Amino acid sequence: MTGKHIVVIGAGYAGLSAAAGIGRGQDRVTLIAPEQRFHHRVRQHEIAAGHRVARPDVAHVLRGRRVTHLATRVTELDLAARKVATEDGGRLAYDTLVYALGSRTAWGTVPGAAEHAYSAERAEELRRRIAGAPAPGTVAVVGGGATGIELATELAEAYPAWQVRLVAAGRVGGWLSERGRAHVLKVLGRLGARVDEERRVVAVTAEGLETDGGPIPADVVVWAASLEAHPLAAEAGLAVAEDGRALVDGHLRSLSHPEVHVVGDAAAVEVPGIGRLRMACATAMPQGRYLAKLLTGRTAEPFAFRYALQCISLGRGEALVQLIHPDDSVRPRVVTGALGRLVKAGIVKGLPLSLR
Ligand SMILES: Cc1cc2nc3c(=O)[nH]c(=O)nc-3n(C[C@H](O)[C@H](O)[C@H](O)COP(=O)(O)OP(=O)(O)OC[C@H]3O[C@@H](n4cnc5c(N)ncnc54)[C@H](O)[C@@H]3O)c2cc1C
Repeated sequence: MTGKHIVVIGAGYAGLSAAAGIGRGQDRVTLIAPEQRFHHRVRQHEIAAGHRVARPDVAHVLRGRRVTHLATRVTELDLAARKVATEDGGRLAYDTLVYALGSRTAWGTVPGAAEHAYSAERAEELRRRIAGAPAPGTVAVVGGGATGIELATELAEAYPAWQVRLVAAGRVGGWLSERGRAHVLKVLGRLGARVDEERRVVAVTAEGLETDGGPIPADVVVWAASLEAHPLAAEAGLAVAEDGRALVDGHLRSLSHPEVHVVGDAAAVEVPGIGRLRMACATAMPQGRYLAKLLTGRTAEPFAFRYALQCISLGRGEALVQLIHPDDSVRPRVVTGALGRLVKAGIVKGLPLSLR
């Protein structure tokens, strides 16, 4: 042992893969995250639809690795003293901190959204609300990005008596290729979901949505319009970008505090030829794995990354695999139908296995 203490905070795709990899080395590693079972976040829409999602124990992922898991929440970071405070009253000193607190739903400035809407984080409550309703009604999903599309299709398929409306300020799947977007709209239509595009939500109330094109009544509202980085980085004084993500160099080291590495949705990672990576499991996990190699001396190179695919599930029987260039720009080709579903399901089910 070198006597160095590495503290990893957050056990999502980035934090857990980093901790598992660093735990193969000689340093003492402590992982702080509240969950005993891995939070397989890219499957939250499936939970909302009442499907069972397998989640490995964090202890199982870390077996045989030199990592102590503290199942608690970080409440404060003292960057000057190099200490982490936890909600159970603990204070832990570190030599190196791996910050991997990820992101959460951004409610924006829309009045009533946080109060009246559900989000992917509250998938189980959303399921209970819909399944337990005395009669079917309307569920409005706000957000035309991948999360909104996945939620809308999954809910429309699982609860066919409900009217699902997907409401977007711009075009649903507007960044996809023409074929990709057309496929998404076709599947939404086939599942009976209604699409409201170019409708900016200005308020959420107990009666539904107020939009710039008039009201959209809804019994249940699901907010999937955007994500924001966990606020602790900015609160603690780490240098952050305008979107709250921590600024890092090519080795994923904080620009303001080099003893802190930041990975996953919490980091504003710039890659030459691509620019700033988007918040995604597809970018978070490679960062966690890279950091493990860096901190165990298996590489000294800067982080390198190329995008491969964009996969969006469209209910249980369908998916869209959008072929993309390494810089994330879309190609015209897509894979759909049973093959698309097979690719998407294979990737998602395989993710927990690749955490180690
Ligand atoms: C419904 C849905 C579908 C998605 N589908 C895809 C997809 O198909 N492909 C894709 O690439 N991306 C997808 N994403 C995005 C993806 O889930 C995120 O980009 C990814 O989870 C980021 O990983 P992360 O490890 O950075 O953070 P997270 O997964 O957010 O993990 C954060 C970790 O920090 C912990 N934490 C938070 N606060 C504290 C605290 N105070 N103290 C200690 N620990 C704390 C959490 O418990 C968790 O362990 C989807 C997201 C959603 C919501």
